[in-house]
Amino acid sequence: MDATESQVEPTAEPVIELSNVNKWYGDFHVLKDINLTVRRGERIVICGPSGSGKSTMIRCINRLEEHQEGDITVGGVPLTNDLKNIEHIRKDVGMVFQHFNLFPHLTVRENCTLGLIWVHKMPKKEADEIAMKYLERVRIPDQADKYPGQLSGGQQQRVAIARSLCMNPSVMLFDEPTSALDPEMIKEVLDVMVELAEEGMTMLCVTHEMGFAKTVADRVIFMDGGQIIEENDPDRFFNQPQSERTRLFLGQIL
Ligand code: ADP
Ligand code: MG
Repeated sequence: MDATESQVEPTAEPVIELSNVNKWYGDFHVLKDINLTVRRGERIVICGPSGSGKSTMIRCINRLEEHQEGDITVGGVPLTNDLKNIEHIRKDVGMVFQHFNLFPHLTVRENCTLGLIWVHKMPKKEADEIAMKYLERVRIPDQADKYPGQLSGGQQQRVAIARSLCMNPSVMLFDEPTSALDPEMIKEVLDVMVELAEEGMTMLCVTHEMGFAKTVADRVIFMDGGQIIEENDPDRFFNQPQSERTRLFLGQIL
């Protein structure tokens, strides 16, 4: 595992930009003045206590949640109520969830081809070839005709990653992709994520896998109470945390 060497140019094109983003659930102010730029090829890890707004923030990026104030831009397209823009952004952004979110009544292969056939209007044969290419990449081509329920959690999460990659996203969002897995399956999923990072995929990962953060991340972001409290390169983040809250959090998880 050594993906840290290639430093992303500070001038690389921004893929995701959040500017003064605020969001409320009813009266509850869940995201407070979030500012974040993710550049092409950057790998960012987001951590922070439960309830700090990590999921909400990344779900706003592909409009699974709606923000009320501030601007979000993905690939140069502003995220507004315009359905065309939302569709455009969703095609560009892959998302992997904690609980896999596969369709249980479809086979692994069908889970992977669904978006290609229905969103990209691709002929089935061509979609099948792409699905198999990515299932090979996550090392489970032999499971293609099984149903998700017949697979282990680690295998299901790798299917979820393959399914996202089939859509050829320019950025991948991960929301605690290994938190629901038994310990022996965490590595097989992290290995796939490390490979993706090494291939230059732009990634925004909510995870508490600090080994992954140390080897892969260009930047680590710490959130608490709906705010970005601190962000730094992994070396400084772990060795010289600036805020007391970050120190407390790291003390609990490391
Ligand atoms: P994290 O991912 O950091 O654990 P979340 O973004 O899931 O945090 O949640 C942040 C806060 O918002 C939590 O207090 C949570 O209870 C609250 N919350 C999340 N989703 C909703 C919702 N749909 N309606 C109301 N409150 C919510
Ligand atoms: Mg969460």
